[in-house]
Amino acid sequence: MHDPFDHQHLWHPYTSMIDLLATFKVKAAQGVYLELDSGERLIDGMSSWWCVIHGYNHPQLNQAIEQQLKSMAHVMFGGLTHQPAIDLGKQLLEIVPQHFSKIFYADSGSVAVEVALKMAVQFWSAKNGLIKDKNKKTNFITTRSGYHGDTWNAMSVCDPVTGMHHIFGSSLPQRFFVPAPQSRFDGEWLPQDIEPVELILKQHHQSIAAFIVEPIVQGAGGMRMYHPEYLRQVAALCKQYQVLLILDEIATGFGRTGKMFACEHACVEADIMCIGKALTGGYMTLSATLTTDHVAETISQGVPGAFMHGPTFMANPLACAVALKSIQVLRAQDWQGKIMQIQAQIQSSLSELAALPQVADVRVLGAIGVVEMRQPVDMAEIQQQCLALGIWIRPFGKLVYIMPPYIIDVQELDTLLSAVKKIVRSIA
Ligand SMILES: *Cc1c(COP(=O)(O)O)cnc(C)c1O
Repeated sequence: MHDPFDHQHLWHPYTSMIDLLATFKVKAAQGVYLELDSGERLIDGMSSWWCVIHGYNHPQLNQAIEQQLKSMAHVMFGGLTHQPAIDLGKQLLEIVPQHFSKIFYADSGSVAVEVALKMAVQFWSAKNGLIKDKNKKTNFITTRSGYHGDTWNAMSVCDPVTGMHHIFGSSLPQRFFVPAPQSRFDGEWLPQDIEPVELILKQHHQSIAAFIVEPIVQGAGGMRMYHPEYLRQVAALCKQYQVLLILDEIATGFGRTGKMFACEHACVEADIMCIGKALTGGYMTLSATLTTDHVAETISQGVPGAFMHGPTFMANPLACAVALKSIQVLRAQDWQGKIMQIQAQIQSSLSELAALPQVADVRVLGAIGVVEMRQPVDMAEIQQQCLALGIWIRPFGKLVYIMPPYIIDVQELDTLLSAVKKIVRSIA
């Protein structure tokens, strides 16, 4: 099963190099299927961590990269520009909330978050001046159960427990955390959810640059779906207390929740928004941080008169070209109808699991289905079961969940859901 070189030398995400977990070697991937070296064909229930919305080996996306490759694979973005970056920018401004007008391309989700946090701090230092101790607005507030990436400052705003802050101790900056909202997306709004936000903002707004949050769906920090009213009230409080609002749409963007961007469920206007993951349809790593004229102009008027960030592979032309094509492919179809159809099928299939004693909760939104167990699950064992059942999922903690490619058909989704149900039922 193991490739011996991989086993000895390649470090996989969140793994030990002594106590090795299985890794399955993929030979090829086509449509919703992963094809393993060992012969199995697995329906991908993960979209390779939210990314592969149109499936693998997509002819139009392949063609977009191949065509771009003929003119150039990469040029630096300092002092140079290119058509793929411009065309993608135009396309993005057509689909993001209208008040966003400035785009900073970066190379991964975590970096897009770093960029957003830096923008917020530079915004307030431009407003308040760089004089020592004058700009105290350098800290951040966020909700628990969040996930914003693995780099240093992104990690500092992840859930302090599941984000494993204790491992890094005092090397991580201390942020303000409020409890995760308890009001469910599909339930009633509980007004007490907002109280801790108001309390901290009232007390500490002088030291807070921004509130960062995943809109509507908290992903890797707990797969929670919360009430849109929470986001609306957070946005209102941010305005009231002069704190910028950063929306992390890296997991939720590009239709996953049934809206192009999850913030549309709440109709809030944020100051900064991060996108990534499905941006290129899962073909290349690319992300972007979007902001308003006001934030961009304020930063540019401050010291040192520029925004201080610039990744080497910023706006990589191959990545921009395939991202543009991916958005075009998405918009050329009734994607919303398709997501609603996936949502209905997941809902009608998985809801019966809620009655099982080992299941704590079942929740569904858009093309996301989550079964929360009462006890942590054995990921390694479940992945072995998956191979036998012809599907690919990667549970973590108490969560068994799916977010399949949008191209999945009724039959394939039925196979995926039946397998998930079999796995959940087998956990006694
Ligand atoms: C995945 C993710 C990130 C980090 O993106 P990377 O590309 O892995 O660095 C940040 N925020 C959210 C909400 C994510 O889901």
